[in-house]
Amino acid sequence: MTVAGNWKMFPGPDPQALRVALGDLPHVVAPPYTRLRDCVEAGLTTYAQNVHWADEGAFTGEISPPLLLSLGVEGAIVGHSERRQYFGETDDGVAKRTAGALQAGLNVIACVGETEAEREAGETQEVLRRQLAVLDAHPRLVIAYEPVWAIGTGRTATPEIAQDAHAFIKSLLDAPVLYGGSVKAENAEELLSQRDVDGALVGGASLDIESFVTICRIGSSR
Ligand code: PEP
Repeated sequence: MTVAGNWKMFPGPDPQALRVALGDLPHVVAPPYTRLRDCVEAGLTTYAQNVHWADEGAFTGEISPPLLLSLGVEGAIVGHSERRQYFGETDDGVAKRTAGALQAGLNVIACVGETEAEREAGETQEVLRRQLAVLDAHPRLVIAYEPVWAIGTGRTATPEIAQDAHAFIKSLLDAPVLYGGSVKAENAEELLSQRDVDGALVGGASLDIESFVTICRIGSSR
């Protein structure tokens, strides 16, 4: 079961201290770019928070799969709702980033999820269908179901909402599905015990070593 920590644009915990605290527990960390090397050198399983599709080129501000691989980075998050919401990333761009990263040899966590307005309008399945339609199953592709209304808000999807969405996603694409949206040490057990929840993508709670290690331990026991 994968438990991945998205540090967003925060420095995050000390990689060495986190490594020691995690021991043998399976984990992924996605620090800001400037901390990738420290995380790799500390022996953490390290992903980037985004990746471009091209190997190289005139794409200011972007990072390519080979550049990440050369650092020892093993994967990337793609299509996070904050990228879609604040930086105009589209389903098409997410598809290209995902395909380019997979082709280059990275693992990918591709994020999907509906906004509050879309859920209230009964459009959750339609949104998920549209976001997933551009992705093809791949042995190194994992999906993260992250309802936008639950990210960084303290509002977690109920285990039933998560289970329903995960089962729907799996009916469309053969891939493990992580749940993301205000996962904490206190609610991880009931979310991760749902049949189709294959792990978690954790934002805020991954910045605290004790919380993240607790969630990783719960994940490894499932
Ligand atoms: C995330 O950043 O992917 C996330 C789910 O954040 P949080 O856990 O803080 O809601």
